[in-house]
Amino acid sequence: MMKELICDNLSVNESDHLCLGGQDTVLLAERYGTPLYLLDEDRIRLQCRTYRKAMTKGFGEKALPLYASKAASFKQIYRIMQEENMGIDVVSVGEICTAHAVGFPLERAYFHSNNKTDADILYAMERGVGYFVVDNREELDAIERIAGEQGKVQKILLRLTPGIDPHTYEAVSTGNVDSKFGSAIETGQAEEITAYALTLPHLHLSGFHCHVGSQVFDADVFLRSAAIMLNFVAEMQKRYGYVTEELDLGGGFGVRYLAEDPVMEIEKNILAIGEAVSAQCEELGIDLPAMRMEPGRSIVAEAGMTLYTVGTVKRIPGYKNYVSVDGGMTDNPRFALYRSPYTVLLANRTEKADAEEAMRCSVVGRCCESGDILQENVRMPRTVARGDLLAVLTTGAYNYSMSSNYNRIPRPPVVMLRGGESYLAVKRETPEDVCRNDL
Ligand SMILES: *Cc1c(COP(=O)(O)O)cnc(C)c1O
Repeated sequence: MMKELICDNLSVNESDHLCLGGQDTVLLAERYGTPLYLLDEDRIRLQCRTYRKAMTKGFGEKALPLYASKAASFKQIYRIMQEENMGIDVVSVGEICTAHAVGFPLERAYFHSNNKTDADILYAMERGVGYFVVDNREELDAIERIAGEQGKVQKILLRLTPGIDPHTYEAVSTGNVDSKFGSAIETGQAEEITAYALTLPHLHLSGFHCHVGSQVFDADVFLRSAAIMLNFVAEMQKRYGYVTEELDLGGGFGVRYLAEDPVMEIEKNILAIGEAVSAQCEELGIDLPAMRMEPGRSIVAEAGMTLYTVGTVKRIPGYKNYVSVDGGMTDNPRFALYRSPYTVLLANRTEKADAEEAMRCSVVGRCCESGDILQENVRMPRTVARGDLLAVLTTGAYNYSMSSNYNRIPRPPVVMLRGGESYLAVKRETPEDVCRNDL
C-alpha cells in the first residue's frame, strides 16, 4: 500500500484510481464535477459510535459526546448527528438555524461563542437551545436579563481556562490564562464568576466547560486539564455547597494529515481519561458529573477529501513549479491561514504516478492573491498536466465550513458516500447564488 493512504477508508482500485469509502474518485468527479468535497458518511457514523461507546464505557451512562459542528455544518450533518444520538455544539445563529431546520432536538445543543449578542441570545432561547456555554460576566448578565424577560430559567455551563498550553506539552501556570476564551481558574476569576452565577435567579448552573486546544495528540494534556477541572469542582462543592452536574472537557483530538502524523486512538484515550477521572472523584469525595466531550475534527476530518482538476502547470526553471487547480483558498483557506499541512495525491493515476520521475511543486488556486496556496513542496510526477485529477486528503473538517466566495467564486458541492452509493448533501453554488442578496 502507498504510504500516503493515511486513513483506512482510502484505497486504490484496479484502474489505479484513488478511492474513498471504496468508491472511484474519477467516476465521482465525472458525475459531480470539480472542485468537489467528498464526505464518507459511513466513516462519520463510525467516529460518532466510537465516541459514544468509549464515553459510556469510560464515564458511565450519563456521558454524551457533542459534535462541534463548526467543523462541518450543513443540514445532513445534523440529521446524521440526531440519528447517532449525539449532542451538538453550535456557535452562531446560522448553525442553530441549520440544526433547527432539520428538527435536531435542540435541548441537546450547547451554544458557544465568546461574544453572544442580545439578538443571538434571544434567537437561541426562542428555539429552545438547551445550554449556553458562558464565556464571561457581561454575557452572564445579558443571558440572565433576557431569560428574565422571557420568563424562563436557562441552563448554562461556565467556560473556564485550566491554564494548559497543549502545544508546549506542559501545564504551565500561566499558559492559556491569557486566552480570549473563558475565565481563568488560576486568577480566581473562575471562582468569582461561579459564585456570581449561583446568585442569578434565571440561570441554572449545570456545570463547567474547558477546551484546551485542537489537533492535540498528547493524551496527557486531557488528563491534566480534567484533573484541574475536577479539583475546581471539588472546591466549589466545599466552599459553596454547589454540586456540579455536568463537566465538559472540550474537543481537540488530533487527526492524520500526513503519513508521519501519529494515530490518536479515541477509545483508548477516553478510557484512560475515564479511569483517571473516576479515581480522582473518589479521592476528592465527589460524584462523577455527567461528562461531555466536544469532538469536531476527529468526527469529520478523515471522512473528507477534496477533488480538483489540474489546469495550468507552470515551471520556472531554477525557481519553482506551480500546479494550478480549479479551487483554492476559497474552498480550503487553512494553508493560507496557518500553513496547515495536507497530503496531496494524483487521483487518476496513483501507483503509476508514484513510480514516475517526480518534481516538487506548489499546488495553488485561482484566486487573485499570491497567498492562494493549498500546499507547498508537493511531490508530483513531472508529467502532471491539465486535466489530471488531484486529491487533497483529510479535508472533512474546517474546509467547507471555512469556505468563502472571495473573487465571487461559487462554492463546491458536498457529496456524501454511504454504503457504496453517493448523494448530494449540498448543491454546487451557481454564479447567480453568489449575487442573490445583492439589491
Ligand atoms: C473548536 C472547538 C471544539 C472542537 O475542536 P476539534 O479540535 O475540532 O475537536 C470543541 N469545543 C470548542 C469550545 C471549540 O471551540
